[in-house]
Amino acid sequence: MALHKTTQRNSESVYDAYAQYAADRNIPKFEIPENPHSPEIITDLILDELLLDGNAKQNLSTFCQTYADPYIRRIMDACIDKNMIDKDEYPQTAEIENRCVHILADLWHSPDSKTTIGCSTTGSSEAAMLGGLAMKWRWRKQREKAGKPADKPNLITGPVQICWHKFARYFDVELREIPMEHGRLLMTPEEVIKRIDENTIGVVPTLGVTFTLQYENVKAVSDALDEYQEKTGLDIPIHVDGASGAFLAPFIQQDLVWDFRLPRVKSINASGHKFGLSPLGVGWVVWREESDLPEELVFNVNYLGGQMPTFALNFSRPGGQIVAQYYNFLRNGRNGYARIHSECRDHGIYIAREVAKTGLFDILYDGSDGIPGAAWTIKKGIDPGFNLFDLSDRMRSRGWQIASYTLPANCEDMVIQRVLIRHGFSHDMAQLLIDDLNRSIEYFKHNPVREGLTENLAGGYHH
Ligand SMILES: *Cc1c(COP(=O)(O)O)cnc(C)c1O
Repeated sequence: MALHKTTQRNSESVYDAYAQYAADRNIPKFEIPENPHSPEIITDLILDELLLDGNAKQNLSTFCQTYADPYIRRIMDACIDKNMIDKDEYPQTAEIENRCVHILADLWHSPDSKTTIGCSTTGSSEAAMLGGLAMKWRWRKQREKAGKPADKPNLITGPVQICWHKFARYFDVELREIPMEHGRLLMTPEEVIKRIDENTIGVVPTLGVTFTLQYENVKAVSDALDEYQEKTGLDIPIHVDGASGAFLAPFIQQDLVWDFRLPRVKSINASGHKFGLSPLGVGWVVWREESDLPEELVFNVNYLGGQMPTFALNFSRPGGQIVAQYYNFLRNGRNGYARIHSECRDHGIYIAREVAKTGLFDILYDGSDGIPGAAWTIKKGIDPGFNLFDLSDRMRSRGWQIASYTLPANCEDMVIQRVLIRHGFSHDMAQLLIDDLNRSIEYFKHNPVREGLTENLAGGYHH
């Protein structure tokens, strides 16, 4: 009996994984199984299933990092048990988070980067909520001080990422989103001024609009708000959504004035896991000066016997991404980031040029002065035998994931296709992509689509 049992227990590691447990049954999908199983076999089964996911490196739809060097993996592994919220238990992780805040404040030209305040978040979405809340609090305090009602706050944005729609809905703020128009896909100062009133808590320009990859002109908006203040006395702060751009502009668009060099810019958010080059799960928000974050929003926690201010929606969160961010700053330095991002930009410009050469597309964004990548539409009045959803679908058969989508109001009649280029992409991959694009176009020439895919059927990309 004892012998039999031992044999049974051993059998899992004696036999080939695919010759036993995995060979003849479905793995449980709705209920937890009764008994434990061999970790090797279970790992094999799960990793096999994940092969059906898209291959992240060929995912040109995402803004998020899909490349990590072996050192980042080592850091992530070493930090897997660190909870960044426990400042007292992991004081050096807290210290490193603080260093990152000050490094970013310095990169973004805070007048006093060593004393200003900011924090890590799960990404730009949480960072946007915190930036938005600070604007709402600041506005409400001013209104209450003046004895005026403070129940109808509004926020002015260009065509924004969905996180601002969430902020507005979750925190009861009216979103005055400037719609796109044909020939004007971004926020302009005139459109901002039209929408301001005394209940405006702030204006959010985006440095790197998700739809078109272009930067909104923060300085022009700031100048217009200066002029508006002179006329009306209303002092409207700016929060910059720099999810992508705040990790690009300091390195490859250094002459662009968009950050705390403009005194009206009170806070900035950025995604560490986009062009900050860190693994998924880290964002940042930094205030120009400590006084720009209303103190009522801050919670103080114990830290090395003292107090540390914190501001967050989340509680427990992994520390590894924050440490990896610090690694990236030290490992790359200014020149390393500049080198990586400018290579990506060149690949985007190359792809835009090659796409233009087909003669079928109008280039909407040529990759040169916003986020690394490119965007195009099908030329008006031509029928190449496919629509952009069909083309994305065809490219998927070679593993490429390329976003096609209709633009938001008032340009819903425009479908665009967009690629993002990130760290880990090479000129050679860009050439392979273009070869596949040309092969797909050739295929449709001989096999034109009668009833093209619709956005819903094509699935794929959602903002
Ligand atoms: C990606 C993005 C966000 C959301 O950021 P996450 O880091 O994914 O939470 C917000 N705004 C813009 C402009 C973005 O590109």
